Amino acid sequence: MVAIKNSPITVNNYIAGKWVPASNNETYTRENPANTEEIVSISPKSTEEDANKAVEAAHEAFQTWSKISPINRGKYLYRFAELLESEKNEVAELLTKEQGKPLSESLGEVNKTISEVRFTAGEASRLSGDTLPSERENVSIRTVRVPKGVIAAISPWNFPLVTPLRKIAPALVSGNTVVFKPASITVAMGAKIVELFEKAGLPEGVLNLIIGSGRSVGNQIVNHPKVQGITFTGSTGVGSNIYEQASKRLIQVQLEMGGKNAAIIYDCPDIKNAIDQIVPAAFAATGQRCTSISRIIVNENDIDQVVAALKQKTDAYVIGDGLDKQTTLGPLVSQEQLETTQKYVQIGLEEGATLVTGGKASAQEKQGYFHEPTIFTDVKPDARIAKEEIFGPVLVVLTASSFNEALDICNDTEYGLAASCFTQNKSYQDLFVSQVQAGMLHVNNGTVSESHAPFGGLKHSAIGPYSIGSTAKDFFTDLKVVYDAN
Ligand code: NAP
Repeated sequence: MVAIKNSPITVNNYIAGKWVPASNNETYTRENPANTEEIVSISPKSTEEDANKAVEAAHEAFQTWSKISPINRGKYLYRFAELLESEKNEVAELLTKEQGKPLSESLGEVNKTISEVRFTAGEASRLSGDTLPSERENVSIRTVRVPKGVIAAISPWNFPLVTPLRKIAPALVSGNTVVFKPASITVAMGAKIVELFEKAGLPEGVLNLIIGSGRSVGNQIVNHPKVQGITFTGSTGVGSNIYEQASKRLIQVQLEMGGKNAAIIYDCPDIKNAIDQIVPAAFAATGQRCTSISRIIVNENDIDQVVAALKQKTDAYVIGDGLDKQTTLGPLVSQEQLETTQKYVQIGLEEGATLVTGGKASAQEKQGYFHEPTIFTDVKPDARIAKEEIFGPVLVVLTASSFNEALDICNDTEYGLAASCFTQNKSYQDLFVSQVQAGMLHVNNGTVSESHAPFGGLKHSAIGPYSIGSTAKDFFTDLKVVYDAN
């Protein structure tokens, strides 16, 4: 039972319907990022042999699961959503304790997961094909969607509940079976997901959990000949490596990767409203969202007003343990993320940027990975802090002397995930939508996605069909065209 009150929680792999330790019996521990003396979980350091067993179990279960009607498969998802709803407060607490984000954000993630899973369960009845006329009198043509087989689902730690479900739910409803590898530092939530599916009565082998390092078990499932599709969310570096491996076997991938998302403020009469939306989009999850706004590009005439409003709102954050009600900014997830943030603050200073606020690790009563929300201005477009994904609470402000220059700066990055534009000028709005190279565009609102809309990106932010929404089936099913001469 993955319950926070039993902390430290011992979690295991789940293979062919059984909870099992690693075959070498080795384990590793995960600390609470808000209190590093507290151990949250003890989990298996699985081997490549364990990963093979998980794939074999999924491969065997595919033979029966794929033959069940999609609508009956969808019923397991509705049951999962019900169970998650009934345990939502406990799951949110576990999420905060393991990942660090404030409890209100964790509850938001749980609620979003419930609605996405319900949406995906409904996709069961929309797995339709087309009928086409034929050139021949006695022939009809139709398309049918069929499951791929075993899907490897590899997820990161920043949204340890909703991201895995964006993979597992559409995979299952489409008739695939799954080998799920959660990020090594959020394994308790990975096990909780599987436990809820077990309670929902999912047949054995349909969903398998393998816990261990990406470099060993992750790599093993990516390269396993019985895996027919890889859905991955994580860094662009690891994603491109997976792409290379998958291309050797000619199998399809769905890769959701990094971002360096900009918000343009130009010809915007209500700057306060823009800042009210940008700041939470920058610092939610302590800046560890792939869609976090990490750059603001502003008309040079408005810079003083923008920076003053930004500083005021940012300085109101209360840093602390996400389980404390007053906390609005939790810790970073790990020592590594804290060090990366500190490294980039140093780079920003060396690049000649001006620190507006923040810039330091934050001392708290308990030892944790806390860092102040940080803003730099006087940032040059080619500065590293303006171009590289930091994945921490660091926001940089750049200026432009025309809207076209703002668009150029916005596009001057390898990434293309999300972008916002705050302007009342209709032709600027149109230019933003047509010219910005990003998968998700927000006009006069922050970079927040919704549960039924496709989610994905361009350039080095994503490869393959967008997840959730109507596009997920393009990855989770294969298309067959049937010529019927009856
Ligand atoms: P990461 O280091 O790339 O890891 C992601 C997952 O891949 C983890 O489960 C990891 O396992 C596994 N992995 C690592 N090396 C692997 C390999 N060689 N083969 C197979 N799997 C491997 O990313 P992260 O640090 O967890 O997450 C942060 C990144 O995710 C950021 O770049 C962020 O932008 C991106 N992200 C993107 C989206 C999106 O939708 N576009 C959403 C959220 C996050 P271990 O944990 O064991 O290393």
